[in-house]
This record gives sequence, C-alpha cells and structure tokens, in this order.
Amino acid sequence: MTNPSGNFPCDCRDRTFPPEWKDYWFRQEARIEEDGIYCIYCPLCRFRFDHSTLKFLTADHIWPYSLFGETVWENYQLLCISCNSRKKDKIDTEIRDILGHGEFRNILQHFVQEKDPHLAGFLGPDRRQ
Ligand SMILES: [Zn+2]
Repeated sequence: MTNPSGNFPCDCRDRTFPPEWKDYWFRQEARIEEDGIYCIYCPLCRFRFDHSTLKFLTADHIWPYSLFGETVWENYQLLCISCNSRKKDKIDTEIRDILGHGEFRNILQHFVQEKDPHLAGFLGPDRRQ
C-alpha cells in the first residue's frame, strides 16, 4: 500500500493519525464484493464494512502508542469500535502482566541509558543488574 504521508503528513510522535488516512486506507484496501459493494473487513473480528459504515471503524496503532508505537503508516490499521476497545482492555491488563512488574520499564531505561545518558537521567538510575 502506498504511504499517504506525502499527501497527509504526520509527525510520528503525534497521538492521533491524520483523519484523512481512513478514507485513503479504504480506497486502497476495499475490494468489490459479489453484491457490487466495495468493502473492507475488521482484521480482528472479520466484520464487513462498506464506505457508508466506515464511521464504525477507528484508526488504531498496531503496536500501541502507549508502548511507544509510532504514529506512522506502517503502524496503522482500522479496527471496528468493539475490537478497538477490547484491544485496549487487553493491553491494559494482560500485556501489562506479561511485561512484568517494572521489568519492561527497566529494560527501556537501560536502552535509553545507552542511547542518551542525559535523557536517562530524567528517568532515574538504571536498576538493571
Ligand atoms: Zn472488529
């Protein structure tokens, strides 16, 4: 798929995607069905959407923004509202459990320490052994 950033620029640090990307995504991804209607599917529940029901799809960071996923085309997908909220619940509970208590933060802090010691100072001491 062609990256729309040339037409609709986006700062990878922004919290939200440009709203124009939704229609752009539809125009690139939609396939004509047997009933003659152009459709796309929610990648999680496979529910079908046409252009008139596009409003029920929401822009989503594949790798979550809260876990440092960038706001770039490569990290963009459209999810139905229901799957998007279920995904948020999972991220907030199950993935945080997998990340462990402070484990992920310590790894990240160590990474930042190597990349930019001055910035790492703002994050406190490196607690990794
Ligand atoms: Zn869905």
